[in-house]
Amino acid sequence: MVEYELLKKIVEAPGVSGYEFLGVRDVVVEAFKPYVDEVTVDVLGNVIAHKKGSGPKVMLAAHMDQIGLMVNNIDKKGFLHVVPVGGVDPRTLIAQRFKVWIGPNEFIYGVGGSVPPHIQKPEDRKKAPTWEQIFIDIGAESEEEARDMGVKEGTVITWDGRLERLGKHRLLSIAHDDRIAVYTLVKAAQKINTDADVYFVATVQEEVGRRGATTSAFKINPDYGFALDVTIAADVPGTPEHKQISQLGKGIAIKIMDRSVICHPTIVRWMEEVAKKHGIPYQWDILTGGGTDAGSIHLTHEGVPTGGISIPSRYIHSNTEVVDERDVDAGVELTAKVLEEIGDLRL
Ligand SMILES: [Zn+2]
Repeated sequence: MVEYELLKKIVEAPGVSGYEFLGVRDVVVEAFKPYVDEVTVDVLGNVIAHKKGSGPKVMLAAHMDQIGLMVNNIDKKGFLHVVPVGGVDPRTLIAQRFKVWIGPNEFIYGVGGSVPPHIQKPEDRKKAPTWEQIFIDIGAESEEEARDMGVKEGTVITWDGRLERLGKHRLLSIAHDDRIAVYTLVKAAQKINTDADVYFVATVQEEVGRRGATTSAFKINPDYGFALDVTIAADVPGTPEHKQISQLGKGIAIKIMDRSVICHPTIVRWMEEVAKKHGIPYQWDILTGGGTDAGSIHLTHEGVPTGGISIPSRYIHSNTEVVDERDVDAGVELTAKVLEEIGDLRL
């Protein structure tokens, strides 16, 4: 069972890439503090939680940024025009509620404006909206009023979303990518008993090109790296089984590769042994679209042997991401065992 209140705090805090300081960063600092020796925030804003040890130096990364929107123009009528931050699909924006972040943990509501079907041309109803057609309505009647409400060029926006239970085992939220993995790191930090010198890193700016992992891995220069992120679970109607990547409720996924990394094969097989030994349910992650922080970590300095732990998630990059808490629990367990047994790993 997940620790619901902790997960809720972590997934609901705002942190569009580069703007993690608006909320999620402090939540993550506080979450790690009781379980590590030192928590620092580096120049780009990565949270580095260090649990000191005499064994191998291990870096585990989970990104705390989320995709979102940024205001690039406020028009005369007070509508906000936006650009994507990270991989946002414009089809997911129409007729949605948004939070417009005017300060740390401070927001006003907005809605993704749309043209009612009644007055759309029949051919336009079939098309996805373009970025030029997307705008956010905050209720302002003029540019001046929008500015008085606290909106500026550069203001970031997220979907309005909460953590909810869905059925018996599933959890619905706006930002499981990648807060569910940040949560996994905190839970692993809580329970491990290891000699390893462990750096838990909640990275910034993964969604715009793994920038926080690049600088934090350079600084830490670990012996081993692991990235924790979501992977696609396309186990839904219309997708044949061999194209589903992963399935909810079938266990934590051990990454073999994604577009940014080919995980060290010895680490992959060793992780499988660890999972088997402890009866942790697992599946494989071979992701042909999308990268993870592992892509940056393994290219640090002269190269870092790197693995990945992936939490299957449906509907990634939307405000309705769904994970299975049994997979999350398996992920916490595997992360903890990897850290406790890393001294046995021989490349
Ligand atoms: Zn991610």
